Amino acid sequence: MITRIKNRCLEERILIYILFFTSILPFVLIVENIIIDFPFIANYKWFICMFSSVIFLFFVLKGKYVRTIKVIFIGTVIFGLLPFGWFTAGVSNNFTIAYSFLIFISISYLFENKLMIFFMLCEVLVVIIMMVLNAYYPALFLNVPIETQLIDSIVQVVITFAFGGLLLGTFSSSYKKEKEILNKYSLLLDEQNKELEKLTMIDDLSQLYNRRYIFNYFNVYQNKPNRNKLLIGMIDIDAFKEINDTYGHDLGDQVIKYLSNELRTIVDINGIVGRYGGDEFIVIIENANQVLYEDIVKQINQISVQIDNIIKPITLSGGFVSYDGKTTVDEALYRADILLYHVKDSGKNNMIIG
Ligand code: GH3
Ligand code: MG
Repeated sequence: MITRIKNRCLEERILIYILFFTSILPFVLIVENIIIDFPFIANYKWFICMFSSVIFLFFVLKGKYVRTIKVIFIGTVIFGLLPFGWFTAGVSNNFTIAYSFLIFISISYLFENKLMIFFMLCEVLVVIIMMVLNAYYPALFLNVPIETQLIDSIVQVVITFAFGGLLLGTFSSSYKKEKEILNKYSLLLDEQNKELEKLTMIDDLSQLYNRRYIFNYFNVYQNKPNRNKLLIGMIDIDAFKEINDTYGHDLGDQVIKYLSNELRTIVDINGIVGRYGGDEFIVIIENANQVLYEDIVKQINQISVQIDNIIKPITLSGGFVSYDGKTTVDEALYRADILLYHVKDSGKNNMIIG
């Protein structure tokens, strides 16, 4: 049953705890009143409270009439238990305010919006009326000996603190639980956002940057105040159509993946590699000197594809140009393309730097 209570919403859980408390508490208070010889009239309210709480608790645990019970219960507490308790608790008993405060907190847990404000205002009104009555008609209130009051106050302090602790404890543990859930969801959301972001800039097959990312990269580059020269290379697989036709499209895909890995490894931290489209790749090398440029281009030219079933050597053609961001990117890509087609026209399987 405890787990079932824990699984309920905060509002219902608080109601169960309050009703449980108001079922047990009157019994303790009646015993206390008898022991300390407190006027018996003070016990009637506790009998009613205990009896009604047990019935309410029965229905709430079954999940029946919860909303109605909430309204009847708080209404009875505000208009019945609170004033009646005030009359019978003794003129100078200062725990009525503590109870009023706990009732106030309970209202804020149990209700929302208009109903919450309504009950809060009702309670404030009842408290003010009782204070006025207390001031002008003290004879209406029970007067008990100071020793009896002291013992009663000691019991009340334990009860009000325990009740307050229960309410705040339930709220804070529920808050922590909600926070944990929220944190878990926000981590999940972060991961999904990253995944989504990746999807928008990574080509699915090759896992290289896609065209969108590459053009965004150029945009950022062009807006940089201090730009280093780039080396841009357009690389294309030679006779790829024939590879597809001979070995099948799936093996063609494997070739693209293989080459993408090789290109990424060669360029490494010196720049980025993208899939420009179909069997065409783009390589951008940053911050490099002539020696490094030439070495990278040489390594790309020497890539040899090692895939089972493919016996025919697979070669690449490429055209490389330098770019300083002063002209348009299209113009640089056009220059690289011209070089690439020059290589294609003159027998393929070569890289030239323009
Ligand atoms: P060239 O040496 O002149 O570049 O000849 P090529 O056959 O490589 O050129 P072409 O443009 O005629 O053919 C490119 C082929 O690449 C055609 C297309 O079917 C294939 N291709 C494009 N994208 C993919 C892909 O994602 N997977 C596979 N397997 N093939 C692709
Ligand atoms: Mg090709």
